[in-house]
Amino acid sequence: MLDLSHARDRMVDIHVSRRGIHDRNILEAMRQVPREVFVAPGYEEFPYEDGPLPIAEGQTISQPYIVAFMIEMAELGAGDQVLEVGTGSGYAAAVMSRIVERVYTIERHAGLAETARQRFEELGYDNIEVRTGDGTKGWPDAAPFDAIVVAAGGPGAPLALQEQLDVGGRLVIPVGDEPHDQRLLKVTRTGAATYSEEDFGGVRFVPLIGEQGWPENGSRSKIRGASHDRS
Ligand code: SAM
Repeated sequence: MLDLSHARDRMVDIHVSRRGIHDRNILEAMRQVPREVFVAPGYEEFPYEDGPLPIAEGQTISQPYIVAFMIEMAELGAGDQVLEVGTGSGYAAAVMSRIVERVYTIERHAGLAETARQRFEELGYDNIEVRTGDGTKGWPDAAPFDAIVVAAGGPGAPLALQEQLDVGGRLVIPVGDEPHDQRLLKVTRTGAATYSEEDFGGVRFVPLIGEQGWPENGSRSKIRGASHDRS
């Protein structure tokens, strides 16, 4: 395989580090994970540009900066158990797996989940579990999680995900009334039934489709998940 480590270092320096992400573990993980393995055929020339790229099923692999930003918001630590909703290409799960103890990642499209699983196996990343399903319901048998990162935008923060956070756990999720006009929220579980919320600004993600997300048919009736006490 072509050695693209120089292009990768450049991407991390220019698009991630210089834009304000200074966590050494994130930068090191992004220098390690070969992003070119995660892009669709035909896009191998572009893995180190700072933009989202198309993958199968009309979905996208998120831009490197936003992957780094969400991981920084989630404050990942070495011993953490992390849930990702929206495996997509598998790139973000791969990066997180270089930082934490175990990553559980759910994707609603079986084909994407299977391709990601094969990529993890080929790379020898054996601390990632992949499941096909509706991630808005979380992964109850692996809960509680230290962090949950949702890579698609929903109408609210799903209750199931909030409840699967450990106390002190962080949920990072794009939320908005329009599927492509969202705010990036961090919901922290501060106690058994208490949560705090911070807003990290506007973002654009593909819609989170599921029981506690948007309906599949495109109708945008509101299904509000978040109803816990907030400070
Ligand atoms: N993290 C991915 C990566 O690094 O390539 C990018 C994810 S892409 C922006 C969002 C993904 O969320 C899509 O693959 C989409 O199919 C998936 N998705 C949307 N709703 C979902 C749900 N309820 N459960 C699981 N996956 C979902």
